Amino acid sequence: MNAIGVKRGETRPQLLDVPDPEPAPNEALVRTLRVGVDGTDHEVISGSHGGFPEDEEYLVLGHEAVGVVEEPNGTSFEHGDIVVPTVRRPPAGGENGYFAREEADMAPPEATLERGIDGAHGFMSEYFTSEERFLVEIPPELAHRGFLVEPVSISEKALELAYTSRSSFEWEPDSALVLGNGSLGLLTVAMLTGEMEVYCLGRRDRPDPTIDLIEQLDATYVDSRQTPVETVPEVHEPVDLVYEGTGYAKHAIQSVHALAPNGVAALLGIPDSWEFEIDGGRFHKECVMYNKAIVGSVNSGPRHFRDATDRLGTLPESALDALVTNVVDYRAFEPAFEDGDEVIKTAVEFESPP
Ligand code: NAP
Ligand code: BGC
Ligand code: ZN
Repeated sequence: MNAIGVKRGETRPQLLDVPDPEPAPNEALVRTLRVGVDGTDHEVISGSHGGFPEDEEYLVLGHEAVGVVEEPNGTSFEHGDIVVPTVRRPPAGGENGYFAREEADMAPPEATLERGIDGAHGFMSEYFTSEERFLVEIPPELAHRGFLVEPVSISEKALELAYTSRSSFEWEPDSALVLGNGSLGLLTVAMLTGEMEVYCLGRRDRPDPTIDLIEQLDATYVDSRQTPVETVPEVHEPVDLVYEGTGYAKHAIQSVHALAPNGVAALLGIPDSWEFEIDGGRFHKECVMYNKAIVGSVNSGPRHFRDATDRLGTLPESALDALVTNVVDYRAFEPAFEDGDEVIKTAVEFESPP
């Protein structure tokens, strides 16, 4: 079958001819509809994140997929059900406690594989197989946008961790600062704008489609070149919640200085190593004296996928239309991996959604 992957030693995705997947007992065979592309895919392609399956010369890309069940094969799905796969799978050594407790999203990297990212083939192929416990059914009317369930689930989990960290007292956030106007940041802006005042940080000049989308969502664009993160309290207001989706390591520290008392910063970015100087005393004291929290969050589980499915149905259609700038056929997939100021979110299509 056809698949899009990257070969060892290369840094460009290509169309590959790979073996058809054989479903094991209790694994459904799924026909792929669409697969989204995000910043992590670019990091995987460049070799800065993730890795190849052991003893394989290539990695099939793609971790944001939606497909249709072709063969239920002993699972409780029916032929034609629309499903979205979760990303993590047990490592070569087999099950561990994280998977047994259905908390694979809380596993450290060495206790899990990630399909399309780290050590296991992804979903960017005509078919894929998956165990039932790693598939979440979505309504057919969401099929065309089903590749957004995984990224929305990432933010569902991060927000859950952030809110839970503030659960010992009355915390009703009025404001949020989303760092990053990539697809993850913009989806999160869309999730939060109905609930609070939202600011979104980028580093782009107008005109720019991400700034248009931020404003279409009634959020405020903040340019980090004029308003660095730690100055947001003076220029705008101290915020209750920071959501970091830039992968810019200084933001992890600066976030604390943008927070209002008792606020929380959720860190999502995956930076490379970067040494820089900070005022550690100021950082430490502010966390303590103002009861501020920082939570890191990676991946998401079936519960977050179900929440994300519900959430996706409530997000404004016009914003989602503006977010997804290109859906391309897998036989001419290259534009899905092009980076440019006009590109926000792309997807590769294997079959038109019903
Ligand atoms: P992305 O498309 O690369 O978006 C990052 C955005 O941040 C870009 O739009 C970039 O602006 C902006 N940015 C970077 N540095 C900035 C700065 N100093 N000031 C202002 N804006 C800045 O990536 P994504 O797909 O949205 O993902 C965001 C990050 O989260 C990535 O690091 C990704 O690896 C990570 N991620 C983590 C998880 C998780 O489970 N924790 C899940 C998905 C993604 P320009 O485009 O103008 O350069
Ligand atoms: C994926 C997550 C994954 C993380 C770290 C993200 O882009 O959406 O599922 O856990 O990267 O590899
Ligand atoms: Zn991702």
